Amino acid sequence: MSRYFCHEHPATLTVVTRVVDARPGAVLLETTPFHPGGGGQLADRGILRWRDGDITVVGMEESEGQLWHVLSAPVEVSGEVEASVDPVFRELMTQLHTGTHILNAIVSQEFRGALVTGAQLNADGTARMDFDLPDTDNDRLRGPLEAAINDVIHQDLAVRYQYVSADEVAAESGLIRNRSVAPPPDDEGLVRIVEIVGLDRQACGGTHLRSTGRGRPVRILKIDNKGRHNRRVRIGLVSDR
Ligand SMILES: [Zn+2]
Repeated sequence: MSRYFCHEHPATLTVVTRVVDARPGAVLLETTPFHPGGGGQLADRGILRWRDGDITVVGMEESEGQLWHVLSAPVEVSGEVEASVDPVFRELMTQLHTGTHILNAIVSQEFRGALVTGAQLNADGTARMDFDLPDTDNDRLRGPLEAAINDVIHQDLAVRYQYVSADEVAAESGLIRNRSVAPPPDDEGLVRIVEIVGLDRQACGGTHLRSTGRGRPVRILKIDNKGRHNRRVRIGLVSDR
């Protein structure tokens, strides 16, 4: 996991920067406010404006440690560029992603460290998380789980960050939640920890709300069995406060 501009400046959604490298339909910028996605979070979308026009950014591609902006048409961008993240899409991803942390924290506490086996956020305001969970009554789990998530949202807990060494990560149990993919350290050997104060700490490179109360309430849409050890929990943001 690299350290992204948006980790240090999450509120800066527009920067004026320069093209470093380009090919038709893709461009590498000196600085980018775009989050590349990962761990189930979708890459930011947005727009690039330059001397010859503007073009939509539909995704990001990481190649040899560089973050390329994937464009909606095979144009070649050059020179000075104003890069703007779509604020509505970023906010949606941020709310959903923070919601999955809360869900993950509560499930992990209730089921003694149950690991996440997969996660996917969707552009329609829903997300799913898969957990390695023992046999549980899905219907009985749903109501209390939804209430517990919304209680954390209501409490408006602060969210903060810390960079710790890989050794410290290994020493503190519970920081790595994903069964298959542990986020790699950055160039300095540090791992980014996100903490929902009073609830949860874990390694993560995604975008998060500044406090849990800044998001909409969450609904548990469904809990399914996926194989003998997996439970798939689908959540959705309630559309209006
Ligand atoms: Zn996260």
